Amino acid sequence: MTLGEALWHGQAHMPTTARTRLTIAGGDGAYVTTDDGRRLLDATAGLWHTNVGHGRERIARAAYDQMCRLETYHCFGRFANEPALRLADRLSALGPVDGAKVMLTSGGSDSVDLACKLALRHAQLSGDTTRTVLVSRDRAYHGLHGLGTSIAGLPYNRDGYGSPSLVPDTARIPTNDLDGARAQIERIGPERIAAIVAEPVIGTGGVHGPAEGYLEGLQALAHDIGALFVADEVITGFGRTGHWFASDRWGLQPDVITLAKGLTSGYAPLGAVLVAPRVADRFFADTPDTPMFRHGLTYSGHATACAVAEANLDILAEEELVARAAAAEDVLTKVLDPLRDHPLVAEVRSGAGFLAGVALRADVDGAAVAADVTDEGVILRAIHENTLQICPPFVVTDDEVDHIATTIRTALDRRVT
Ligand code: PMP
Repeated sequence: MTLGEALWHGQAHMPTTARTRLTIAGGDGAYVTTDDGRRLLDATAGLWHTNVGHGRERIARAAYDQMCRLETYHCFGRFANEPALRLADRLSALGPVDGAKVMLTSGGSDSVDLACKLALRHAQLSGDTTRTVLVSRDRAYHGLHGLGTSIAGLPYNRDGYGSPSLVPDTARIPTNDLDGARAQIERIGPERIAAIVAEPVIGTGGVHGPAEGYLEGLQALAHDIGALFVADEVITGFGRTGHWFASDRWGLQPDVITLAKGLTSGYAPLGAVLVAPRVADRFFADTPDTPMFRHGLTYSGHATACAVAEANLDILAEEELVARAAAAEDVLTKVLDPLRDHPLVAEVRSGAGFLAGVALRADVDGAAVAADVTDEGVILRAIHENTLQICPPFVVTDDEVDHIATTIRTALDRRVT
C-alpha cells in the first residue's frame, strides 16, 4: 500500500486533469512546500482560509502555551474555559452587530447548520409555526453538513440523496437579481420563510460580488417579510473583502453571521456564529416554557482553538492586514483586467478586497489550466463555472500578485498557440 492510499478526501472527486496528488509538507508566508521540495505560491490561501499566511510561530506558541495549561474544557452547562470567554467577547465587539451573542463551532459547515437550526427554532419560539422554509441564493455554497447541503445553490452539492434536499423546506432565489428574488419569495409565500441565507460574495459558486444594492435590498426584504437575514461570512469574514466583515463593507446588520476559516487562518478548526440580541433574547427569555436551544458540541469553544484564534486576530490587527487586503483590490484589478481580452477568458470577476475570479470560456478545461498553473509554481483551483479562484494570503506582495496573473496568462497563451 502506498502512503495515503486510504485517504479518501481529495481523490474521490479529483478530475483526471488534476494529475498527481500534491502533498504539502511545509509553509511560510504566502508559500507552501511539497514533500519533494517544490515551493509553490499559495494563490488560493488553501481553501480561502490562510489569511495571515503560513508558518506563524506566534500562533504555534499560543497553541503550545494553551495546551500546556489546559488543552480544553467544554463550554456546556455550568462550564467554560478562559480563551472561549475572551474570544466570544472579542468577536462580539469586533462584529458588525452591537451586543451580539456568540456561539463557537468547529468549522464553517457547523456554523451554517447551527445558524439554520437557530432560525427555524427562532420562528417556532416566536409563534410563527408555519415559517419553516430556508431560502438561499443560486450558486450558494454553505458547507456540506445536513442543512448546508440542503440549502446549497450548487445543484451538484444538493442532489443525489433521494429527495430534492435533506430537509423538506428549502428554496432558491436568483443571485444578484432583487426583483427576481422578490417574485420568487411571493411564489414561496413570504409568511412561510424562516430565513434568507446569503454569502455577501458568492465564493465557491464562482466569485460573484454583489450587484449594487442587492445585499442591502435582500436584508430589507427579509425583514419586511418577518424572516431572519443570515450572512454566511465564512469566506468574507476577517478581512477578505478589505473590511473586517463584508457586512461592514456593505452596511449590513444581519440577524445571524456565520464565520470560520479566517477566524484562525486555518491554524485550528474553529468557527463562530454571531447572533443579534433581538434574536438571541428570545432564547434567553427567563420563562419556564422557553426550551433550551440544544446546540453545543464537545469541541464548541475548544480552548486551544480559541487561543489560536486570539493570536490570529492579534496578527491581523497589529500588522494591519485588513487594510492590506483593502489596498490589494486595486492591485488585483490592475493585474487581472488585461486578461479580459484574452480569447480563452469569459469574464474577470472582482469579489472585493483580496478575492477575485477569472472565469474561463466553457469549452476550456479549467481544471487542466489550474493544474498547469500549479505546476508552474502558483497554486490555483478551478471552481464553479470554470472560474480560477484567486484568494491569496494577505501577506503576498504586489509583485507576487502580478506573478499570479502572468502565470495564468502564460498557461492560457500556451493553449491558444
Ligand atoms: N460557507 C461558506 C460560504 C464556505 O465557503 C464554506 C467553505 N468553503 C463553508 C460554509 C463551509 O466551511 P467548512 O469547509 O469549514 O465546513
